[in-house]
Amino acid sequence: MKILICFGTRPEAIKMAPVIYKLQERKIDHTICVTAQHREMLDQVLEFFGIIPDYNLGLMSPNQSLNKLSGEILTSFDKVLTEVKPDILMVHGDTTTSVMAAWAAFHRQIEIAHVEAGLRTFNSYSPFPEEINRQVTARLTNYHFAPTLQARDNLLRENIPEHKIYITGNTIVDAVQLGISRLANIDESELIFETGIDPGSLKRFILLTGHRRESIGKGFEQLCEAVLQIVDTEEVDIVYPVHLNPNVKDHVYKKLGNTKNIHLIDPVSYPVMLYLLKNCEFIISDSGGIQEEAPCFGKKVLVTRELSERMEAIDAGTSILVGTNTLKIVENATELINKPSHSIFQNPFGDGKASDRIVSFIIEKFG
Ligand code: UDP
Repeated sequence: MKILICFGTRPEAIKMAPVIYKLQERKIDHTICVTAQHREMLDQVLEFFGIIPDYNLGLMSPNQSLNKLSGEILTSFDKVLTEVKPDILMVHGDTTTSVMAAWAAFHRQIEIAHVEAGLRTFNSYSPFPEEINRQVTARLTNYHFAPTLQARDNLLRENIPEHKIYITGNTIVDAVQLGISRLANIDESELIFETGIDPGSLKRFILLTGHRRESIGKGFEQLCEAVLQIVDTEEVDIVYPVHLNPNVKDHVYKKLGNTKNIHLIDPVSYPVMLYLLKNCEFIISDSGGIQEEAPCFGKKVLVTRELSERMEAIDAGTSILVGTNTLKIVENATELINKPSHSIFQNPFGDGKASDRIVSFIIEKFG
């Protein structure tokens, strides 16, 4: 049996790392191809987990359009498919890479397994383009690894046959555990040093991230305004690793740069992110992955999106949907600052055994 794994971005690399470790552990023949649609941020993760791709298509280009990227993935990845001739292609999540790699495999009549299948908002433009990437990938997929019951139910609503869906848990929980174990012998102060922040100047802090396309413009305006109001009235710092997308970066530095108690830093390596998640008060973020990681550390997330495809976190109370409304962000943040609740949540996204379930399924199915 030959498995080809294809991914292109930082979150996919983080969530596929434990699956790759399991494949290695169980000695399953696998080939890794990265499209590198986000180059630097992906490389940081590969380095931390010690993953060396067999193919790196290097497809990132400045301000690339989704259509240009899609076309390039289809043609470049086709060459990999014809060379590797896999029995099965494994893709993850919701990116242009996942859906285009799946299309290319479908055209060659190669079976497809989809990790983190079934997340939905049922709104085509939120998140954009991820919602439709997910729906289309589902149509092309033969084996759907749904992280939760809700994800399975979403797939059933789209008439995906039940016998093709396997509930596994989300591999992010495995990734956090793996990441923490790789950091066992590392001094935490080395991690904060990497951010360039003087640890002596850091008070209680809120971790902030934001990068979604649908928030660029008015959404970011309102978020930045909320952050300014929070540091103005509360005894708290903000640590914000700013996404490299120039549409995000330029705006954020213009609005929040040189403000006391706001630390704008470059995207951080995964170990530093684990440190920030562990040590922050709570998180303000539009990131999907961070909503899944935060409960591993008993931290709450104010989610700056209008809709969420991770309602499990909202239902479990680990995330609060605040959108990009300034007042709502400030009110909820003020409440969390003044009534901190560091609890050990049961993580609604899994138990850290998702990768094992996925690889066991593959072995059972393909021998
Ligand atoms: N992340 C990281 N460094 C950063 C920002 C995020 O390692 O500076 C990690 C984060 O912990 C999570 C993943 O990247 O695992 C999420 O990436 P992102 O927010 O870009 O994408 P999403 O999860 O929304 O698809």
